[in-house]
Amino acid sequence: MSQSVCILGATGSIGQSTLKILQQHPGQYSVFAVTAHSRIAELVEICRQFRPKVAVVPSEKVSELQQLLKQSDLHHIEILSGEAGLISIAEHPEVDVVMAAIVGAAGLLPTLAAVKAGKRVLLANKEALVMSGDLMMQAAIDHQALLLPVDSEHNAIFQCLPADYLQAERNGQPKKGVSRLLLTASGGPFRNHTLDQLRQVTPAQACKHPNWSMGQKISVDSATLMNKGLELIEACHLFAISEHFVTVVVHPQSIIHSMVQYVDGSTLAQMGNPDMCTPIAHALAWPERIQTHVPPLDLFVNHQLDFQEPDTLRFPALKLAREAMKSGGLAPAVLNASNEIAVGAFLNNQIKFTDIPVVVEHTLNLLPNAAASSLDVILEADQKARLLAQQFVSSKGS
Ligand code: NDP
Ligand code: MG
Repeated sequence: MSQSVCILGATGSIGQSTLKILQQHPGQYSVFAVTAHSRIAELVEICRQFRPKVAVVPSEKVSELQQLLKQSDLHHIEILSGEAGLISIAEHPEVDVVMAAIVGAAGLLPTLAAVKAGKRVLLANKEALVMSGDLMMQAAIDHQALLLPVDSEHNAIFQCLPADYLQAERNGQPKKGVSRLLLTASGGPFRNHTLDQLRQVTPAQACKHPNWSMGQKISVDSATLMNKGLELIEACHLFAISEHFVTVVVHPQSIIHSMVQYVDGSTLAQMGNPDMCTPIAHALAWPERIQTHVPPLDLFVNHQLDFQEPDTLRFPALKLAREAMKSGGLAPAVLNASNEIAVGAFLNNQIKFTDIPVVVEHTLNLLPNAAASSLDVILEADQKARLLAQQFVSSKGS
């Protein structure tokens, strides 16, 4: 039977890759709902191609969408708006699979709604898990949701772990013979930059990743290594493992997408050309496999595999994220919120690239940590952190 898919963030990089795979398998999947935030014309084009039942946009974009859909003879598509609209499609009874591909904290509530509705949730939106951590993992257990990693590293680790690994006790210890997770990082476009050079980099340079084509925010995160920091936290939650057992390995070629080490001396790696269609297809079809257009790895061409330790002096964001995970509680949510503000400020030319971790560290130091006891507490910490980070950004600019 065909699976009904809801794509949160359909106009983004992950959204588009998801649609590309669905298009290849029309009998197996149908698109129930799609969402956009600013790219309304692109959403209409998606609606034209995939004929979803529902489209969701911010309330101020509803009339624009209505007009464009009417012009394209697509007036039968129901339009919903705002966060309530996103939540209602994520938990809709007709939906089997939710692709969580909104960027940043804006994706938290709809992703959580999908988890609480017991869906197969394909998790690209790492910020949602970084913020809500234990709460989201517990909700997945309580509501029997299948939370499958789309982030390429986590998808790789998932593929290298024993099949029943996630059913084991969630106590922070590696189990079932696993000794360590090796999270690979490309090192980003500025891997070999000196601190002086890093101070001068522009948003355009930061958004040009050497191996992956991605949205702006994650591109900047990859350049600061905050992306790897967020992924470290993501891995700890997904695989119920303490940060002590997760090592970050810089691997500039992005051919190995991450590894799992075992107590008997084995290291299992998942390899492939860097294209997000592979992990998306894996998470969509798991435990089956479906075809993608991604060419198989040609080891005679991609024969060089290098590995280095990350430099946390030039890239302190990784260290900040590890410390936030160690502290636990609200620290990861504060780290994420202040990073979102800092990245936005950098993209608007308000602060330098090297100020991004400074803003995050400043905010983490200002806000006393506490237990992430409820969603409200997490959302409040997110708001407070944004305010403090914004104030700091403004003070730097003046
Ligand atoms: P993009 O910026 O390309 O896309 C983001 C999507 O979210 C767009 O559909 C955008 O709408 C929508 N959106 C943005 N802001 C809001 C908001 N406030 N409310 C609702 N929707 C919003 O990002 P990516 O696709 O690159 O990344 C998406 C997520 O996946 C991120 O969390 C990222 O970390 C993660 N990820 C991405 C990878 C990649 O290769 N791209 C790899 C691994 C993880 P619109 O475009 O219409 O404005
Ligand atoms: Mg990744």
